[in-house]
Amino acid sequence: MRDRFCLTLLMTAILFVTVPLFSEEILMQNAPTQSTVSPSRMNDSSTKLQKELTAKYGAQQKERLDRGLHQVAEFWRTDDGDAAAFEEFVRTNFAGDQATLDTMFNRFQSMLEQLDGHMHEITREFNQQSDLDLGPVLPFDEAFAGYDPSAHVLDDFFNNKLAFTVLLNFPLTTLDQRLKDGPNWTRRQWAEIRLAQRFDKRIPADVNLAIAQAGAESSQYIAQYNIWMYHLLDPQGQRLFPPKMRLLSHWNLRDEIKADYSDPQTGPAKQRMIQQVMERIVTQTIPQIVINNPAVDWNPYTNEVKPAVVKDSDATTESRPITNAPEPDTRYATLFKTFNASRKADPYSPTARTLIDRRFQEDREIPEARVKAMLEQVLSSPLVAQTAQLIQTRLGRPLEPFDVWYNGFRPGSQYTEAQLDEIVAKKYPTAEAYQKDIPNLLMKLGFSPDRAQHVANNIIVDPARGSGHAMGAGMRAEKAHLRTRVEKTGMNYKGFNIAVHEMGHNVEQTFSLNDNDYTLLQGVPNTAFTEALAFVFQGHDLELLGLPAPDAKSQAEKTLNDFWATYEIAGVGLVDMSVWHWMYDHPQATPKQLDQATVQISKDIWNRYYAPIFHKNDVVLLGVYSHMIDSFLYLPDYPIGHMIAFQIEEQMKKAGSIGPEFERMAKMGRITPDLWMERASGRPVGPEALLEATQRALSATP
Ligand SMILES: [Zn+2]
Repeated sequence: MRDRFCLTLLMTAILFVTVPLFSEEILMQNAPTQSTVSPSRMNDSSTKLQKELTAKYGAQQKERLDRGLHQVAEFWRTDDGDAAAFEEFVRTNFAGDQATLDTMFNRFQSMLEQLDGHMHEITREFNQQSDLDLGPVLPFDEAFAGYDPSAHVLDDFFNNKLAFTVLLNFPLTTLDQRLKDGPNWTRRQWAEIRLAQRFDKRIPADVNLAIAQAGAESSQYIAQYNIWMYHLLDPQGQRLFPPKMRLLSHWNLRDEIKADYSDPQTGPAKQRMIQQVMERIVTQTIPQIVINNPAVDWNPYTNEVKPAVVKDSDATTESRPITNAPEPDTRYATLFKTFNASRKADPYSPTARTLIDRRFQEDREIPEARVKAMLEQVLSSPLVAQTAQLIQTRLGRPLEPFDVWYNGFRPGSQYTEAQLDEIVAKKYPTAEAYQKDIPNLLMKLGFSPDRAQHVANNIIVDPARGSGHAMGAGMRAEKAHLRTRVEKTGMNYKGFNIAVHEMGHNVEQTFSLNDNDYTLLQGVPNTAFTEALAFVFQGHDLELLGLPAPDAKSQAEKTLNDFWATYEIAGVGLVDMSVWHWMYDHPQATPKQLDQATVQISKDIWNRYYAPIFHKNDVVLLGVYSHMIDSFLYLPDYPIGHMIAFQIEEQMKKAGSIGPEFERMAKMGRITPDLWMERASGRPVGPEALLEATQRALSATP
């Protein structure tokens, strides 16, 4: 499983808002005509309507009317109708007085809740067999699970003109406007903004298809990028890794570096070798033939390749000639294809004209410049050197570049995993036992008996096939589902720990849907927020078992672990951002040029923020993340997620009790991240809480 945030299904929240990147459904659509009615005809019509409708409804409607006409014209195509049809549409659907507008708003809100809720209900039912522990999954079950009933909804809404009705009457906004004016908007205004945002793009089917294909192709490339570790030879010809070990880049390679800290004998040699492999992947000097191939032995230092003299796999050997010819920049050709596909959507996204803008202004809703500044604030903090000093002392040697993945900060526990397993299994022999205990668990977290019961009534516990996930509802008539893993011998501690995390999601989902004043504001500003709220629950799992909370020392270790991870991933995020800018600046580049640029960007950021700590220049490790190739500028979400988690946690500590504070926060719903955080904690999103906690942790750690 990838190291994304846990699988929380916020599907309804993103039903309309994001491009359906990976939906197979759009493969089946035909490309529509994309030409618009001639601008001059539209202008004539708009001028005429402007006069006519201002006369009818009064001058106070002029501004709204102007805006609505402009918004509709921007998305209107030839096949939506001629100028006369446009005029007729506007005359019929402009809400020229407040009462009509209120009715329209309320009815759209309730209809869309029904649509989202029922679409989500179908999806949940169709995924039941794959998601739950209900016996074998048959091939047709997978087809049900892959079906997305909402795939065509956005197109349908433009075709039946409901989208145009919204665009005619409610305002599209830019992030700048939401940030500047948002604090003064009423809740109703915010709900109107979110309503209009559902229709802020009309991406033609062939463009969505191209994006989906590039996404699928890049995921495929990444999913098969394995290194067969037993076939790596060190300079003495030794095999450091066990037979059959096959590691997927970069996740498994990085996790093996982490695991090797527990092996003081051969650990460092293994870690150095993995670093060497990663660098060859980034620079594309890795021999093509060693990728996903147990039939060759490879010395990653000299790059010498030979037929394997040992066999640890039944995979049929290929008859390719064995040479150390490098991978021909496939990594960067693949990335460039995702860029080229994304770029095709630019002209159809008038409020965010690049993928970079769509990621920062629409998905994250934090301006790129602010994100960059926050990452740099962590990277250049004096706490980095202090933490590095502590790591060096614990390792008893100078730091090496792979120590960006140091994992020796460990909250100790006075209980063994086996003891905890026993306690949990006794308490929760079945999923029903956990279900029954939810009100009690919530009261332990500070919810009043009433509120605990209210939330518990809205959560259904199901036995999960996988490790567990939380699936919120899309309408108030539905309930949130908590999927948890229960073994035949009862729940184990790991399962409980995950269940508590997922329960945090369910509680947020319930408040933000059922107790929100507008269902159009259902949800949280972005994924990092629901994760942060879930981590608050998860961090109290021992107390929920009636055991003592983690002591100050283990809390300090946890903080230092999170800080070091944020330091590592902040640099990776900056590389991802710079590479996307480079591609937009060089749309004609070759894969080779993108390779060279990425290597240079990785080195520059390393030299600036890591070389002073590791005393080594020109390291390219920051470019190894696979998300960079297939995730369309996703990486900055990780460091922001850490920052938000600390902000929320600190606020909970200040408030003294989780329950009421959690409810207050979750009910704010989907406003901008900064506004949400200011109302939650008094400060906008930023790294201060993380840095302050780290400072305290360092002072408390000898
Ligand atoms: Zn989660």
